[in-house]
Amino acid sequence: MKNVFILLILSFFILPSHAKDSEELFEVFNIRNEEDGSTVVYATNNYMCDESVLIEFNTLKNMEADVKLPFRTVVPAGSKKYKLFTLTIKNRSKGSQLGYTTRFCHGNAFEGEHDDKHVYTIPYKEGEQYGIGQAYGGRFSHYMKGKTHAIDFTMPEGTSICAARDGIVIFVKDDSNKHGKTIKYQSYGNYITIYHSDGTMANYFHLKKNGSKVKVGDKVKAGEVIALSGNTGWSSGPHLHFQVFRFDENMEVKSVATKFRQVEGKAIILKKSKEGYLSVH
Ligand SMILES: [Zn+2]
Repeated sequence: MKNVFILLILSFFILPSHAKDSEELFEVFNIRNEEDGSTVVYATNNYMCDESVLIEFNTLKNMEADVKLPFRTVVPAGSKKYKLFTLTIKNRSKGSQLGYTTRFCHGNAFEGEHDDKHVYTIPYKEGEQYGIGQAYGGRFSHYMKGKTHAIDFTMPEGTSICAARDGIVIFVKDDSNKHGKTIKYQSYGNYITIYHSDGTMANYFHLKKNGSKVKVGDKVKAGEVIALSGNTGWSSGPHLHFQVFRFDENMEVKSVATKFRQVEGKAIILKKSKEGYLSVH
C-alpha cells in the first residue's frame, strides 16, 4: 500500500519583538528518508547564545520517536543542522502522519539558574549618580509579570550606558524615535540584550535612536560603554530601564533580583531613591 505522509508544523517564538527574525535565526526542520519513511528532526541556531526548544506533537500516527515526547533540549549557539531525534514508521503498510509545534527561547530554560553571588556594576560611568524612579515591584510598570525585578534610572537623554556584567550582545534595536505613556508604545523602545555566562540576560531599555555602541556578537566587559540612554518606547520621561532575566521551564520571562557594587566592597539591592547611587566600577 502506498505510504501516505502528512506533515503539519506550527512554530512559536517566545519574544514577540524578535519574531520577524526568528525564521533565519532559529529553525526546526525535518528530512524524510523516502526509502524507509523515517524522519529526522533537526535544529539550526544562528543566535549567539544557546536556545532551549520544546517540541510537542499534536499528531503522530503510525510513527514513534527515539526520544521521550514532548521533546525538550538545549541547542548550542551557532549549531547548524543539529540532530534532535528520529521518527520511524511502525507499520509500513499503513499511512503515517505527523504534526508538531515548536517553541524556543534564549538560554537554558530547563536547568538554568542565576548566579546570585554575582555582583553587578551600576550601568553608567564610574562616579556618576542618578535617581531611581522605579525599583523592584514599582507601581507604574514594574508590577507586571516578567518585569518585577527591574530598575528605572532617571537620567538625561544621551547619558553613557555601561554594561552591568560581562557578556555577549545577542540583540540590538536602536532604530526608533517614538515614545508614549501607554503600553501600546512598548514595541517602539530601543534596547540591547546581553547574554551572561550563567544563561541569564540583561535588557537595557529606552535607548536613544542610533544610540547603540555595540553590535550583535560583540563581547563586552562590565563597565564598558554600550549605548546612549534615551526615552523611546513606553516611557514617561528619559530613563534607563534595566533588568536581568532568564526563561523558566514554561519558557516564560522570569526577572531576577541582582546586587550592585558599592564602595568598600558592599553589594546592595537598589531601592527607589531621588538622589540615587554612585556607580562604582
Ligand atoms: Zn522600567
